[in-house]
Amino acid sequence: MKIFITGGAGFIGSHLAERCIADGHEVWSLDDLSTGAISNLDPILEHPKFHQRIGSVTSEELVSELVDRADVVFHLAAAVGVKLIVERPTHTIETNVRGSEVILKAAAKKGKRVFIASTSEVYGKGVKLPFAEDDDLLFGATTKSRWAYACSKAIDEWLALAYYRERQTPVVITRFFNTVGPRQTGRYGMVIPTFVRQGLAGEDITVYGSGDQRRCFGYVGEVIECLMRLAQTPEAIGKVFNIGNDREISINALAELIRDRTGGKSRIVHMNYEDAYPEGFEDMERRIPSVEKIEAAIGYRPTMPIEDIVDRVIEAAALEENS
Ligand code: UDP
Repeated sequence: MKIFITGGAGFIGSHLAERCIADGHEVWSLDDLSTGAISNLDPILEHPKFHQRIGSVTSEELVSELVDRADVVFHLAAAVGVKLIVERPTHTIETNVRGSEVILKAAAKKGKRVFIASTSEVYGKGVKLPFAEDDDLLFGATTKSRWAYACSKAIDEWLALAYYRERQTPVVITRFFNTVGPRQTGRYGMVIPTFVRQGLAGEDITVYGSGDQRRCFGYVGEVIECLMRLAQTPEAIGKVFNIGNDREISINALAELIRDRTGGKSRIVHMNYEDAYPEGFEDMERRIPSVEKIEAAIGYRPTMPIEDIVDRVIEAAALEENS
């Protein structure tokens, strides 16, 4: 197959590109390198079936050329990371909404199958757990910029479903829950790479808030297995799927786990949200995916235990440090 990945130099995109190449597909990646890095693609950069373009998903001509060439499009390019979102809300809204608009318009012209990457953030502050795909969405006030991300992604979902209904464009929407693994950077706030870096350096591990808030972490390789299977599942078209691991861990327990597995030298310290994030931040307590729908569709779901995920991230980070 010919596969076009937007955001191919990013964390999830680069793992997806690598998997597609390993499976024998031809891959085009488009990335503006705003949060991604070419070095993420080192293992495949020279591969004859891999083609990298540097540019924006908002450039219509470039996008339409790449979409026309592809059998399947994975639209992963987006502004992500809570810190980035709160610091640059204009950029977040414009990149996410405009990018999807351009991709969907190009895909609709030739009826190309397109995967729109969404996020568990769209469930917002929902309290009915686990979160199922048809649940109501509960956003915070517009004065809290975090929700601009959730809202921009919800618009992307609505637009994709609108194309499906009106133009029969074959869209699939995937809501990624906290996805982690090697190559994820802590620069935009993500907790696991941040704690691992702190632990390996013997620095304080910074838990924000009480640390009682909980998350479910899915291993990137398993998330990509879900995408590859969905791409082989015609019944997935026109539908929304949660993709994530449904085992929960509190941020305090995560900090202890990472401290113990990185040599045990770090102290765990708690920081107020006001000191950790710019104004406009609001956290959510819990977030668990319902994985029934994805499992019924593809017979698979992410299950790697957090301990194994953390070990893989530590191993990759230690290797990078020594290289
Ligand atoms: N977090 C933390 N210390 C950090 C980074 C994040 O305690 O250095 C917390 C954060 O406040 C949140 C959880 O870890 O409650 C997960 O944060 P992340 O940004 O990775 O993902 P998200 O908030 O989108 O689930």
